[in-house]
Amino acid sequence: MADVGPEQPGSWEQRWHPLREEWVIVAGHRQQRPWTGKTVAAAAAEIPAYDATCYLCPGNARVGGAVNARYATTFVFDNDHPCVGVDAPRAVVAPPPPYRVSPAVGVARVVCFSPRHDLTLAEMPATAIAEVTDVWRAQTRELGARPEVRQVLCFENKGDVVGVSNPHPHGQIYATSVVFKTIEIELGASDRHQRDTGRGLMADIIRAEQQDGRRILHEDEHVIAFVPYFARYAYEVYVVPKRRVAHVYDLTDAEVSALAGALSAVTVRFDNLWRMSFPYVQVLHQAPTDGGDYSAFHFFIAFHPPLRQPHLLKYLAGPEVGGGNFVSDTSPEAKAAELRAQAPLHYKRT
Ligand SMILES: [Zn+2]
Repeated sequence: MADVGPEQPGSWEQRWHPLREEWVIVAGHRQQRPWTGKTVAAAAAEIPAYDATCYLCPGNARVGGAVNARYATTFVFDNDHPCVGVDAPRAVVAPPPPYRVSPAVGVARVVCFSPRHDLTLAEMPATAIAEVTDVWRAQTRELGARPEVRQVLCFENKGDVVGVSNPHPHGQIYATSVVFKTIEIELGASDRHQRDTGRGLMADIIRAEQQDGRRILHEDEHVIAFVPYFARYAYEVYVVPKRRVAHVYDLTDAEVSALAGALSAVTVRFDNLWRMSFPYVQVLHQAPTDGGDYSAFHFFIAFHPPLRQPHLLKYLAGPEVGGGNFVSDTSPEAKAAELRAQAPLHYKRT
């Protein structure tokens, strides 16, 4: 693979993030050398298909004493340590202005993606990923209908480096009385773009990615997956239904099936990149469920992998935490090329 030098166009510049309406500083010349293919130290320890000590495996007891169903596909339960919950104290002490407070009401749930302790989305068949997507559809509809819930955030934190030590494949759902900041930013950007141009912002992003083509990882009739031009993380990937819907539950069965295929294609390439279970934060970006007009919002799924190289984390520091803008040490074209070069079959199956 060619070195990404400062002379390579696109490796050192500032790119506009149209959904967040902020600049991303691409400084790809700072990564001295791309990964050269050395295998990751110590192959991951063999993980059993069932672990008697796992609180997510079928039939096992959890901390609070509840026992998991002997589920065969997916399994959803209320988080035993919820960050928002129906039991959150309603009586809050009003602080002096300019401070504000409100009860931490909502629902937090856990979604087991598979009864198998040793699988991940990357190793699950697309049909099983479609069942996970069905859970996201049903949960968003059910929780979004609750009067106190304005937003249903479905996400997956995967891997030690994002704080998840249990390998059992699972995600979480936060149904909150507040709209998450990222969604609020994207709503504003989408509304303004629709008003100013008469076109959908994500539709224009898809068109721009198709015109360039270098960052596309997967595409079919219904779905497209790409490293966005304005990626903030090295291996950031968006998986986007081509038809605009505001919520995951508005997808047709054919679109769910295509979405599952795309999620499989992306996660397999992630794992194949360094022949390891690839860590990431995966988030469903959907509109609030409070009955507002979200006709400009385009649902999509974003993967934010924290690694730049097998042992090199992207640390959020001064520019990101303090300044609020990302500095990317890699160019999206180079990272997309690495992912595009991966085989579509999981390395454990070859
Ligand atoms: Zn387990």
